[in-house]
Amino acid sequence: MATETNETKDRSLNFLEEIIEESIAKGETRVQTRFPPEPNGYLHIGHAKSICINFGLAKKYGGKCNLRFDDTNPVKEDTEYVDSIKRDIHWLGFDWAQERYASDYFDQLYEWAIVMIKKGLAYVDDQTQEQIRENRGTVSVPGTPSPWRDRSVEENLDLFERMRKGEFKDGEKVLRAKIDMAHPNMLFRDPIMYRILHTEHHRTGNKWCIYPMYDYAHGQSDSIEKITHSICTLEFDVHRPLYDWFIKALDIFPSHQYEFARLNLTYTMMSKRKLLKLVQEGAVMGWDDPRMPTICALRRKGYTPASVRNFAEMVGVAKRDNTIDLGKLEYCVREDLNKVAERRMAVLDPLKVVITNYEDDKTELFTAINNPENEEAGTRQVPFSKVIYIERNDFMEEPPKKFFRLRPGGEVRLRYSYLIKCEEVIKDAEGNITELHCTYDPMSGNGSSSDGRRVKGVIHWVSAKHAVESEIRLFNPLFTKENPDDCEEGQTWEDNLNPESMVKVKGYLEPSLMEIPIGQAVQFERVGYFCPDTDSTKEHPVFNRTVTLKDSWAKINKQ
Ligand code: ATP
Ligand code: MG
Repeated sequence: MATETNETKDRSLNFLEEIIEESIAKGETRVQTRFPPEPNGYLHIGHAKSICINFGLAKKYGGKCNLRFDDTNPVKEDTEYVDSIKRDIHWLGFDWAQERYASDYFDQLYEWAIVMIKKGLAYVDDQTQEQIRENRGTVSVPGTPSPWRDRSVEENLDLFERMRKGEFKDGEKVLRAKIDMAHPNMLFRDPIMYRILHTEHHRTGNKWCIYPMYDYAHGQSDSIEKITHSICTLEFDVHRPLYDWFIKALDIFPSHQYEFARLNLTYTMMSKRKLLKLVQEGAVMGWDDPRMPTICALRRKGYTPASVRNFAEMVGVAKRDNTIDLGKLEYCVREDLNKVAERRMAVLDPLKVVITNYEDDKTELFTAINNPENEEAGTRQVPFSKVIYIERNDFMEEPPKKFFRLRPGGEVRLRYSYLIKCEEVIKDAEGNITELHCTYDPMSGNGSSSDGRRVKGVIHWVSAKHAVESEIRLFNPLFTKENPDDCEEGQTWEDNLNPESMVKVKGYLEPSLMEIPIGQAVQFERVGYFCPDTDSTKEHPVFNRTVTLKDSWAKINKQ
């Protein structure tokens, strides 16, 4: 029954898999999970981990995973978010068994609230939010029961119905569970089940003016969907007893909650509220700004779905909170792109080279390999002419010993093309190098040379007259601090924004790069991985740096 994905083959079971395999051993073979986003923002890399866990477990054990929008707070929710969430989950490569909404269950939840009232387990409270908070007590001091706590069932039924009908204003009344005002778990001190909100809901419109709270809605929604494993992040562990309490009080399908550690990444802000602030204040170009940790931003930046899934697998499922090195995410995208990305040539910091013994108007085409890791990717033609650009740092006037690139009097191989020799360095009045005059060996075009001599260095280049000028956006972490919330006195997390998070330079591309679809990363040989941005047009190409080539994380870990 177990269909293992490539990504989970070679490792021991994580604790959630252990739990599932134990219940399978006991004969409970059905696995039903759900991913329950609140549609109040775009999904980020932390959600991606939750998606991979929930959909991944269902897939591995032949079960199902629902997508359930936890839309119980109409104030912050929007269909824009619903659409983006669905798109992002599909992009990651998952599909849900059923698309559900907590709001689908508003009628059922309301019925159940009446059941609770009839059982003497819920009451309408007239206290203000403030009074309720004050009367909750503290961990060491028991709470004070509300003066309305002992209302009769009839009165509660009547008031609750009038709450639903809209007879009261926001905040005038709430429905609370009647549990224990001295309970050591503060959540048990008569938690609020319903509040009044005269706000239009993105799905139910104006049908309701009372909305259920998370604790009252979540477990019951799981139960309605017969969720076997309700997986959430660690901060909900204190909610678990309450989750169980409501299910027991209503005597409905016993879903169970399991908690894992949420994903934290260095240099990355994971709070939706703060990400929304960055968007609203224009600190970034939008939710999909490539510097954001959102899934749509990773997509725009050129990440592949496989790289994100592999990352989720690599960081695993832990029971303790920790912070993962951002380098691991970059490592995963680099590994995947190395296999799948086509190679191209582009020069980001050009130095003009004139091949003095090459014919003025001639153009030759050289065959270049698209992907040495994948023969099927084939080849392409790259134009060559008298004036080319090379990377400025591929030439040194006074190079150190092991510098195998171009130097005065030295020779270097142009990738896929000729050997050239530097004959003369041209400078401006200030002594800056403006161009090089080189000669080429006409016999060296097919990887050989006129007399069999071998040359060590190979550099990339583009033909000046064929090159396409492009804006190149180089991205660095959005925050300067490993923990963006770690700030000096008198400062806020926003002071940790990195002013260098996006650096724009002008690059020169080989012409075939204009055919690469938006979002698809290619390797600029020897430079890094880049993809055309959504802002890119024929007239004004824009490329994003997906990730650099150098792999500092793997190096550290291989030592
Ligand atoms: P909010 O602050 O709006 O509640 P949230 O990040 O909890 O934000 P939800 O939409 O409620 O967002 O999350 C959907 C699911 O994703 C939940 O099960 C939540 O536990 C999980 N999740 C959210 N953030 C992370 C994270 N950083 N790592 C792993 N899972 C996460
Ligand atoms: Mg949440």
